[in-house]
Parts: sequence; structure tokens; C-alpha cells
Amino acid sequence: SVPLTYFSGIGGASKKGILIKGANYLEALTGVREVVFDKTGTLTKGEFAVKEVYPAKGHTREEVLQAAACAEADSSHPIARSVLQAYGKEPCARTGYEEIPGHGVKAQTIGGVIIAGNAKLMAREGVAHEETQESGTVLYVAKDRDFLGSVLIADQVKPDAHSAVEELRKIGIGTAMLTGDAQSIGRAIARQVGVDEAYCELLPQDKVEALERIQGQKGSAAFVGDGINDAPVLARADVGIAMGGAGSDAAIEAADIVLMTDEPSSVPQAVSISRKTRRIVW
Ligand code: ADP
Ligand code: MG
Repeated sequence: SVPLTYFSGIGGASKKGILIKGANYLEALTGVREVVFDKTGTLTKGEFAVKEVYPAKGHTREEVLQAAACAEADSSHPIARSVLQAYGKEPCARTGYEEIPGHGVKAQTIGGVIIAGNAKLMAREGVAHEETQESGTVLYVAKDRDFLGSVLIADQVKPDAHSAVEELRKIGIGTAMLTGDAQSIGRAIARQVGVDEAYCELLPQDKVEALERIQGQKGSAAFVGDGINDAPVLARADVGIAMGGAGSDAAIEAADIVLMTDEPSSVPQAVSISRKTRRIVW
């Protein structure tokens, strides 16, 4: 049985845009030792914009962007939206399409098979590419295993991400960040935000393992995410928290708590509400 006071805690939280699906989750929140954040769309805005196109020798910017747009045309990933926006034209016709989680996309076209994604995707598909060392997410593009070039895409850290991490630290909670993105960009974002630890280049299943390792070391852990691939991690967390505005339906469904504001600072707020509620119960 759950003390009635928990329901007033839930009511107070909902006024701040923090939707708690049950009193037991508010109670579970009081015991959380570590908050684990996903990067894209959670600590960052998830609004990517194309910054630069680097054609490989013998190729043009237009060719790279056109191929990238064609490959990304059927993806709903924020990276895909930014590429289509930068291209600004109707992408070429596709006869087949595959999304490879944590890697990128692959599309069959009349002109050949186009792949667009990270270095891991290029390795998996046996494409020799030139690494681009940049302060953003890099999309490598190849057609029929011929490396066409890369596209530099930048995201922005949410304005309250750093203060959210600080607030958690003040109330004795550690923080970590998980991402499928490359080490270079993952570490840069982690440093900006101030999280204690960063785990990069993770596939969706690796995120579950990373969370379990953190739980083993630190104890009860909340996970905050927004993506379709985040549902298994949200389910495995002691408290699963989803971004409600920009979050995928699968993430919102799998979560115990939904943040309608999409603001990381709602997390320390929710913990504080849970602790206050517990004091009243006692
Ligand atoms: P995060 O872990 O930061 O939330 P995702 O799991 O969505 O990111 O994706 C991890 C990585 O996989 C991305 O950084 C990107 O390199 C690659 N990726 C995923 N989806 C796509 C896509 N549609 N196009 C290109 N690359 C993608
Ligand atoms: Mg994500």
C-alpha cells in the first residue's frame, strides 16, 4: 500500500511538467544514487544542423550531400532531418532501405547502394574512409563501397544541462552520460555538461550493459533518454525517465516518469519532490 501523501507529491510534480506514472516510482526516486543521461536529445537539443561538407578526392560537395540525403530520406533520426534540410531538394528514388541502430542507414537506389553513418558503419561495410576529426558528429557517406566524403553535423547542449548536473551533485547524486556517438564528440559534450563519466560508441544493447555496470558499482540508477533505442535501457533502470516533448512514443511508453519540459533540470526537481514527499510520509 502506498501512503496517500505520495499522490500529492505526484500532483505537485505534474504542475511542473513532471508526469509520474505511479506512486511507487516517486518512492523509487528517493533511493536513486546515480542519474545516467543519454546524450542526443537529452543533454543536447537533438537539433542537428549541417556545418560542413568534405568531399573525398574526385567527388563534389553536391554529390556527397545528394547521396547522404538519398540514404537518409526514410530515417526519422535528427541527423537525417538535418541532412535533408541542408540538401533542400527532393531526394532520389529508393528501392530498399535499412536503418542500422547505432551505425547509420543503408539505401538501395538505381545508382547503387548508399550508406551513411559513423566510422563503425564504414568498418562494418568494408569502406576505407578518411577520418574527419571535428568538434561535431561526422556522417561518412559511401556509394557501392566508394567513399564519397563526410558531412559535419553540429548539435547544441541544452542551456540547463550543466546546472542540472550541478544540482544533482549538490544533493549527493552522481552522473554519467551514454552515447552511440564517437569518443571525440562524446567526451567534448561530457566535459561541457560536467558529468562524472562518459561512455561512448555504444550500440543500443551496450547501453543496457553500461547501465547494469553502473548499477553494480553505484546502486540504484535512473536513466534519462528520448529515443526509440532507449526503451530497453529505460525498462532496465531503477527509474526510467523519458523526454516527453521530443521523445519517441516507445521511450514515453517504457518510462516511469515523463518530463514534458524536455529539460534535464526537471530531474533534480523530481528527486527533490520525492525526498520532500518521503519526509512528509515519515
Ligand atoms: P545517442 O546515443 O547519442 O542518442 P543514437 O543511438 O541515436 O545516438 O545514434 C548513435 C550514432 O549512430 C549516431 O551518433 C550516428 O553516428 C549513428 N546513427 C544513428 N542513426 C543514424 C542515421 N539515421 N544516420 C546516420 N547516422 C546515424
Ligand atoms: Mg538517443
